[in-house]
Amino acid sequence: LNRRLAEFGTTIFAEMSALATATGSINLGQGFPDTDGPEEIREAAVRALRDGRGNQYPPGPGVPELRTAIAAHQRRRYGLAYDPDTEVLVTAGATEAIAAALLALVEPGDEVVALEPYYDSYAASIAMAGGTRVPVTLRPHEGSFRLDLDELRAAVTGRTRLLLINTPHNPTGTVLTREELAAIAELAVERDLLVVTDEVYEHLVFDGAEHLPLATFPGMRERTVSIGSAGKTYSFTGWKVGWVTGSRELVGAVRAVKQFLTYVSSGPFQYAVAEALSLPDAYFEEFRAGMRARRDILAEGLTAAGFEVFRPAGTYFVTTDIRPLGEKDGFAFCRALPERAGVVAIPNAVFYDDREAGAPFVRFAFCKREEVLREAAERLRGM
Ligand code: PMP
Ligand code: GLN
Repeated sequence: LNRRLAEFGTTIFAEMSALATATGSINLGQGFPDTDGPEEIREAAVRALRDGRGNQYPPGPGVPELRTAIAAHQRRRYGLAYDPDTEVLVTAGATEAIAAALLALVEPGDEVVALEPYYDSYAASIAMAGGTRVPVTLRPHEGSFRLDLDELRAAVTGRTRLLLINTPHNPTGTVLTREELAAIAELAVERDLLVVTDEVYEHLVFDGAEHLPLATFPGMRERTVSIGSAGKTYSFTGWKVGWVTGSRELVGAVRAVKQFLTYVSSGPFQYAVAEALSLPDAYFEEFRAGMRARRDILAEGLTAAGFEVFRPAGTYFVTTDIRPLGEKDGFAFCRALPERAGVVAIPNAVFYDDREAGAPFVRFAFCKREEVLREAAERLRGM
């Protein structure tokens, strides 16, 4: 492995899912649902395969049906108008969108400011682009992890090129507020920064929290690349259909990179996702309500088992503090957990440069059937 990537070994998700399989544990580590997305959308994929739609290379920017559906979704949900031909790009999941955006927009030596803890591919993608990551740490404050806007402003230097923002935020479950987003937008405009926003959990917000895309704030549409994913929104993580929306110039740059990463991807699945995006909004409501009920089951179970729980306002992850259990090292705790309780979780420290700051936090995924969550909670209570 070259020097740029030497610090990145196997992802924690692969390691922990392998551990779950090897020990027969309940896997609340890697974030993937144990129930597939809508039957009718699976049927749509089968129809596309049978009818020969997408079995050969689809068009570079994505099939027109899907680009149109993505643009319609952005307009309907957020009032954001994008031209499906020039301002929408289909990618191989959000993962490729993130990598392609950074490779397209970052010059070697540029600084990229990202919220810490950060999703693991951010650090690797910044490194691949030759950039330097500058983490701004979300810190526990009255039950959730919050951004310190002064710390964010202080992190921006003359070398900063781009802000990489994620809301709803994995792994903390934080949903950035209108005030926080407005301050981020003001900073971006004032310092003339580009912004990449990872909004893959846009439809998973609870208890009245609202997902607001940064692109909707003044001065932001032309400097923001927004990222979404059918893996999260429709529970098809294996299909690897994601997307990018933004100005013609920015999306064109991301597309220029995508051509040489995967060229195209997920042919027949693109047609199925186009149909998914055309489902009535009631789908989102049901999806969200189901996930909220699961969040409550897991959060209550973890509280009963003695964890300090940061009840998430978004995503399908709950971050806990293990110190009330007399533990302080999340890595050691997660490595021992399959043996102790038959449950797998993720140590948040892997999402930190400052491993010390992340050490006592452990993430559990709740995108699992209710009986699975109840069983996991039971096991944790008995450990
Ligand atoms: N961003 C975040 C914050 C995520 O949690 C994930 C999935 N775990 C991704 C991006 C990657 O999404 P995809 O599976 O569509 O590549
Ligand atoms: N995004 C998922 C998570 O945070 C995992 C995706 C992956 O395994 N790369 O758990």
